[in-house]
Amino acid sequence: MSRPIQARIDLSALRNNLRVVRRLASSRIMAVIKANAYGHGLLRAAEALDEAEGFALLDVRDAIALREAGFRQTILLLEGFFTADELPLLAEYELSTVIHSPQQLAMLDAYPRRGTLPVWLKINTGMNRLGFGPEQVPAVMERLKSHPATGEVTLMTHFAHADETEGVAEQLEHFKGLTAAYRAPRSLANSAALLRYPATHAEWVRPGIMLYGASPFADTSAQQLGLQPVMNLSSELISVCELKAGDRVGYAGLFRADRSMRVGTVACGYADGYPRHAPTGTPVLVAGQRTRILGRVSMDMLSVDLGGMPDADIGSRVTLWGAGLPVEEVAAAAGTISYELLCALTARVPVVFS
Ligand SMILES: *Cc1c(COP(=O)(O)O)cnc(C)c1O
Repeated sequence: MSRPIQARIDLSALRNNLRVVRRLASSRIMAVIKANAYGHGLLRAAEALDEAEGFALLDVRDAIALREAGFRQTILLLEGFFTADELPLLAEYELSTVIHSPQQLAMLDAYPRRGTLPVWLKINTGMNRLGFGPEQVPAVMERLKSHPATGEVTLMTHFAHADETEGVAEQLEHFKGLTAAYRAPRSLANSAALLRYPATHAEWVRPGIMLYGASPFADTSAQQLGLQPVMNLSSELISVCELKAGDRVGYAGLFRADRSMRVGTVACGYADGYPRHAPTGTPVLVAGQRTRILGRVSMDMLSVDLGGMPDADIGSRVTLWGAGLPVEEVAAAAGTISYELLCALTARVPVVFS
């Protein structure tokens, strides 16, 4: 026997969500698998997403692992290379790279090898995080087109508000204006833009969160979008306590019972990736029935309200998120977003694929 927590990754849900992307956009699909495929396991997720035309991630070692596992698709480094010693690896493993800074251009200039390194020129259209400013684009474009080390140039930008009411209009217009003069493939859309703004689809879409079955929108559920949750984080009750009125639960006694009640202790805590800042009231399922967590989440355990669940006992299955309890809902209750919860799953949680 072992600690009962586990993350079950539903690979057929992942494939379903890729089909949703395919139906929505006729673009090539760059499946975003950064952060260990948002916590789902890089190689297993990539296998399930094998129909995608490309994979995007951050770490050149992960990119190499994908190549060595036999993936033939475009593999794009979303922040590009960080040091010049990565450049020979890009050539050797036929990786594509974002170029977002003058420092990267200088490293390319100093790189002696001639080649056809595919580059994705990142343009800052308002996110103000990565990318060349509008005024730099023409010169950088000229330089890349005639550069002895580079091949095809794809033009890309990233939206700051695709999931909010502000939308993409301003950045989209800006990008169109800046790139109108060039014949090059383009890529703009993250999940939210892909779902809501067909005008952003272009040659490549870059879905991340929707592949993992979570909605990027506060006002539309994953189910409404035809998406299925991929990660199911579950555990069991390992203890049940009977409280009297006035008894308190957990560190700092944050929850206080106002009458007698049953409280269950779940083998899941912040060292598993459950958010410590999730307050009393955050939803959880016990034996498939919805209830709430109580008091402060500890490192290895959290407490749940068993009111109205006389059959719940040690060994009852507890769903922290997944089928029946969208991770977005848990995230919203904890003041964060699904992305953070999925990525935060820690290495000690056994992962099973089904
Ligand atoms: C993470 C990321 C994406 C995917 O965003 P989602 O909101 O998860 O769909 C797309 N493009 C870039 C540049 C990213 O960094």
